[in-house]
Amino acid sequence: MIERFSPTATLLVMHIDTITSPELAWQQEALCAQTGADFFFPEPGSSVREAKRICGMCPIQAACLDYALSNDERFGVWGGLSEKERLELRRTSR
Ligand code: SF4
Repeated sequence: MIERFSPTATLLVMHIDTITSPELAWQQEALCAQTGADFFFPEPGSSVREAKRICGMCPIQAACLDYALSNDERFGVWGGLSEKERLELRRTSR
């Protein structure tokens, strides 16, 4: 499963305490940093319901989704949207 992490995703969910860059400061409020990566990077075909539920309570959901879209994050749940949902959003917003 590690190979599915992008470096940024790993940074977000695994090393949230060490982020010092001002443009990434918003990630310090990430709820996923408290839950671990498994919910957000499930095995293919697994449910993302729990990740989306956590995202729904996260104070930085909009910033997270914007970041994922801006940086073309391909894997995992970001900002409450799955990989497939972000792809669809990109397609429809062109
Ligand atoms: S919206 Fe979801 S993936 Fe993004 S920081 Fe919050 S909990 Fe993590």
